[in-house]
Amino acid sequence: MSDPQVKGWCPGAYRPMMSGDGLIVRVRPRLGSIPADKVQGLCDLSLTHGNGILDLTNRANLQMRGVRDHQAVLDGLWDLGLLDPTPELEQRRNIIVAPVCGPHHVSIAIADRLITKLNALPDLPAKFGFVVDADGPRQLSAASGDIRIETSVSGGLIVRADGSDLGQAVTESEVVNAAVALARWFNETVNPDIRRMAPHLETTPLPHCFARETFAPSAPALTPGPLTNAFAYGVPFGSIDALALKTLLTRSKAGHMRFAPNRIFILDGAAITDMQAFATSADDPRLNIHACPGAPACASASVTTRDAADILAPHLKGRSLHISGCAKGCAHRASTDVVAVGRDGAFDLVRNGHPWDEPLQRGLALDRLADELELLT
Ligand code: SF4
Repeated sequence: MSDPQVKGWCPGAYRPMMSGDGLIVRVRPRLGSIPADKVQGLCDLSLTHGNGILDLTNRANLQMRGVRDHQAVLDGLWDLGLLDPTPELEQRRNIIVAPVCGPHHVSIAIADRLITKLNALPDLPAKFGFVVDADGPRQLSAASGDIRIETSVSGGLIVRADGSDLGQAVTESEVVNAAVALARWFNETVNPDIRRMAPHLETTPLPHCFARETFAPSAPALTPGPLTNAFAYGVPFGSIDALALKTLLTRSKAGHMRFAPNRIFILDGAAITDMQAFATSADDPRLNIHACPGAPACASASVTTRDAADILAPHLKGRSLHISGCAKGCAHRASTDVVAVGRDGAFDLVRNGHPWDEPLQRGLALDRLADELELLT
């Protein structure tokens, strides 16, 4: 089987993407967080016009799945204040912000100013994005982005082109203009076939002015568990049950929901550790599993995926698993150690690959699949 086509654009609120279970409508949290009352409204929209499932994406966005009435969702997002004024501004506001703020909220302040300069940016490819990661040690070094605003090794600020080991040292008042200047350099020098900064740097040297200062070390990876005055929750399978999230928000009395890459969100309220829908410690085996909505949410699936994932989780022994309702593989594009692909009510097993790759074994019942996982070396 061949890899399903990877699109050169990202779904947004204005421009949803069709998936096997309906439209996907992506909401980009402004400055990396959404007030809890607006998240409640988003959950209500998902329950009314979607299938009640919200995805937390790798770029820390929230997306509604299974949407049937796109216009009703757009109207609802507008009423909640979660919709950009135009599709163009939504596409340009491709900014991921450090999830854990320092005492001065430097990343949030910079991202806020960057948003006011979006109109000054040149035309950029749809997936071109900014990473604002300037609250001490870098939290977003693994997050995809093209222009990075980070802490320098000497504790100042740098603007760095992704793919370069060095960045431009800047002051807080210079940082946004420097990021815009780097975006303009990309726009003026890039071959139209290349859409990201790192591959561009493979053939085009970065001017010396953009590459003088080293970045700070990375912070330890954020994992589910307690933080200072907050709690980080993991999202098994990257998929949030809207009803469960409403309950969590109500019980925790959180004021805001902050979004992090790697399927983690942070609430500033009381820690709630007894809800099965959320991972509250780093050793929850479900954090190594990707699973699409499967049956009955998606008409293309002949198997349930999330229930199967719960059953298979104890058999993984640290391996990553992608369990996909069909060979399309909506939940995850990258390779995993084990892939279980639904077909005609049973599972095909792929090793070290993708749902669309040639399976090692076909037609396994769920209990047989669990046995096979135990036998894998
Ligand atoms: S991968 Fe899952 S969500 Fe996507 S079409 Fe197949 S069954 Fe549906």
